[in-house]
Amino acid sequence: VKLRLAQYSQRMLDQIAADERIDYDDIHEGLLYLYRDPKRFEAGIKKMKLVQEHGQKQDVLDPDGVVEAEPYFAPVKHKIAGAIYGVTDSSGDSVKFCRQVQAACERMGSKFVLGNGVTRLSARGGKVQSVTLDDGGSLTADLFVLSAGVHSPKIARSVGVRLPIAPAKGYSATFPIKGNGGMKLRIGCVDEELLVAWCRIGDRLRVTSSAEFTGYETTYNEHDLRLIRKLTQDLLPDAAEYDQGAYRACNRPMTPDGPPILGQAGPDNLYINSGHGHMGFTMACGSSRIVADLIDGKKTEIPVEGLTLTSRP
Ligand SMILES: Cc1cc2nc3c(=O)[nH]c(=O)nc-3n(C[C@H](O)[C@H](O)[C@H](O)COP(=O)(O)OP(=O)(O)OC[C@H]3O[C@@H](n4cnc5c(N)ncnc54)[C@H](O)[C@@H]3O)c2cc1C
Repeated sequence: VKLRLAQYSQRMLDQIAADERIDYDDIHEGLLYLYRDPKRFEAGIKKMKLVQEHGQKQDVLDPDGVVEAEPYFAPVKHKIAGAIYGVTDSSGDSVKFCRQVQAACERMGSKFVLGNGVTRLSARGGKVQSVTLDDGGSLTADLFVLSAGVHSPKIARSVGVRLPIAPAKGYSATFPIKGNGGMKLRIGCVDEELLVAWCRIGDRLRVTSSAEFTGYETTYNEHDLRLIRKLTQDLLPDAAEYDQGAYRACNRPMTPDGPPILGQAGPDNLYINSGHGHMGFTMACGSSRIVADLIDGKKTEIPVEGLTLTSRP
């Protein structure tokens, strides 16, 4: 279900970026899933077959193939057992993308009200009538789409809808990339040993790690960043200015079975687009299109079984 949504979303993302001429520092060179331990590599290749059967193009690379794909790894080749190369994967700056989508929507007449949170929904006669805002004000509308990340369940509960979404905290670090004689990191990667992911975003290196269940807080300390530090020292020692890092901790909105929750739930005019877990950018554009099609009463381009609240296993 998730792979199908991710593949559909990638098509929608590419289409929106092309239609609206959005430059989001996107790189379409694939992603490398790196293995250090030969046994884990074997197991990874077996798992890969599952996604290959569903039409995802992936190649198996030995250490020489890895260096050919990403010359940056030449000095650390001896640490790598091999990689699975997701040929059609891509990376980019989600914030830059969202800001340009916002600008495109504003050009079409949309209005964004930011910095004034929703405290609750109010329903009457099987319909949501209004939202109450932090400042005590309220907004009425014909239709409501709830996409508040890990806070969606609390808002949904105010009209009796239970959403199985819980926070899983992760860390990200962003460093300025070093000049290195013009050589640039090409390909985004996941270290399958440390479960740390990274990619180049313009002239910055973004490195992310960890999934921890610590409630709704988003604090971090030096100990929390240890996997990011280990990865950069191990595999990318000269790639970036590591003394100039910007750090964040954020909560991923996880569902127990993985896919997000899309479509109508509870009151007739309440739609959900939430619970995208660790793949919210990957699944965003397809999810939004599906929710828009459901609102319009159109047939969705991919099946919604396993995505709506009532059709989950
Ligand atoms: C370390 C890390 C690395 C990640 N890497 C990737 C990756 O490589 N690829 C990928 O696809 N995904 C990745 N993700 C996951 C991705 O960030 C999430 O899936 C995505 O942000 C979820 O989007 P969302 O809009 O549902 O929730 P959020 O991004 O959390 O946004 C929710 C929004 O709702 C607003 N909000 C909350 N409460 C209220 C309220 N009461 N009233 C009004 N507004 C409210 C918030 O201010 C926020 O703007 C990563 C996540 C983490 C933490």
